[in-house]
Amino acid sequence: MKGYDLIIAGAGPAGLTAGVYAARAKLEVVLCEKMLPGGQAATTDLVENYPGFPKGISGSELMARMAEQAEKFGLNVESKSVENISRQGDLCLVKTEDGEEHPSKTVIVATGAEPKNLGVPGEAEFKGRGVSYCATCDGPLYQGKKVAVVGGGDSAVEEALFLTRFAEKVYLIHRRDKLRATQLLQNRTFENKKIEFVWGSVVTEIGGGKSLESVVTEDVKTEKISELGIDGLFVYIGTIPNSDLFEEDIKRDKRGFVITDQDMATSIEGVFAAGDVRSKLLYQIATAVGDGATAAFAAEKFIEQG
Ligand code: NAP
Repeated sequence: MKGYDLIIAGAGPAGLTAGVYAARAKLEVVLCEKMLPGGQAATTDLVENYPGFPKGISGSELMARMAEQAEKFGLNVESKSVENISRQGDLCLVKTEDGEEHPSKTVIVATGAEPKNLGVPGEAEFKGRGVSYCATCDGPLYQGKKVAVVGGGDSAVEEALFLTRFAEKVYLIHRRDKLRATQLLQNRTFENKKIEFVWGSVVTEIGGGKSLESVVTEDVKTEKISELGIDGLFVYIGTIPNSDLFEEDIKRDKRGFVITDQDMATSIEGVFAAGDVRSKLLYQIATAVGDGATAAFAAEKFIEQG
């Protein structure tokens, strides 16, 4: 059984940056990723606020570049998911999906977060047949059609704007009468004639035949029920962290995000967390990259102090 200095779980911006730093520092390191490298960031159409790209860059291209850079420094990336992390004596033990157990001096958890579901009737049934969590992936299917986006944060607003490239009409259904998204994005949305707001409403049911045909909405104040005829529904109501990997208790916040100190150390010795899985103020590619660099450096120091 091979022992590592560092095992990184997850190949989003945080994991890949940690990989660049660790491989460049010549640590014995492996990165495990259950899917293709890139994480959620790779599904973003245009990244406008990552420094160094004044014209913006597509999420998939940015992530492909990060993966290329990590591999250039010799990072070994394995296509398997990490199932369990525990502490055994002086080492961490990482169990992967193939049942293998890998001892490592340190671990960086960069497993990110995934989209929250609405949890209403019809959602599971129409997933992939009208219900989507990725406008970049599925938006082009709705050329000339009517779609709705649920949510009021940066993701909902950004993706509603993206969908106006294809759809003839984009409804933005939000449970309050004020958006949470940053002002710049809000202004763009208000100026876009294809976007119509459905304020103070929640989706209570999703219906259709072979594919999605309509959603039922409820006004949260008046409880008035309405039906909206649409071809696609894009759900952007926040994320839940992929933080269920630990055998022993790890400190998490109320929403399940892993709590770290400023050096990305978690409450389990030798285990660090970086990126969207971590409890923090700002969830951005730029902050994930910073987390990844700090976590890799802190892991290196932890090993040196042995
Ligand atoms: P978010 O900021 O948590 O927003 C989630 C939205 O969904 C909120 O408007 C919330 O309503 C609504 N919501 C939550 N649960 C709901 C439910 N059950 N039913 C209906 N609506 C519900 O999530 P996000 O937009 O995915 O963003 C996550 C993080 O990534 C944020 O920190 C964001 O700034 C960042 N991000 C940044 C960019 C960018 O800078 N370009 C792009 C995307 C994401 P309330 O407002 O009423 O709570």
